[in-house]
Amino acid sequence: MNIVIQGSIENKETFLDSLNGSWFWKSKQSLEQIVNDIAGSVYVKIGRIPKGTCHIFLCDDTEPIQRKYYGKVVHKDVSAFASLSRKAIIINVNRSNKKILAHELGHIAFESFLNRKVGYHLHEMVAQYCEES
Ligand SMILES: [Zn+2]
Repeated sequence: MNIVIQGSIENKETFLDSLNGSWFWKSKQSLEQIVNDIAGSVYVKIGRIPKGTCHIFLCDDTEPIQRKYYGKVVHKDVSAFASLSRKAIIINVNRSNKKILAHELGHIAFESFLNRKVGYHLHEMVAQYCEES
């Protein structure tokens, strides 16, 4: 799966810091490399590599994007959410971490192999399984 990360330089830096965790362990990898590594571990869990492109939008408030997508705020106070139909992940960089990214990537990857609708709870269970490193 091709992953395109969009956001301001500041939001990309904040997100990179949150993915790196402690400054002591700060890796020299780029944001793209780290995100693709996390995606790789999600694909291993799902068992297949999804096709197509996933867009990751980095912001400091998800609500304007929710209003644009849904016409209202659907997820109050969320750190991140995935739009399955748009194959997009929207992340509040101030409230995010590796687990949250893996969780949302799990939703996108799982959805890409479904040929019918599954229940919310099954989707959520798979995404939670993808969180574990
Ligand atoms: Zn979820």
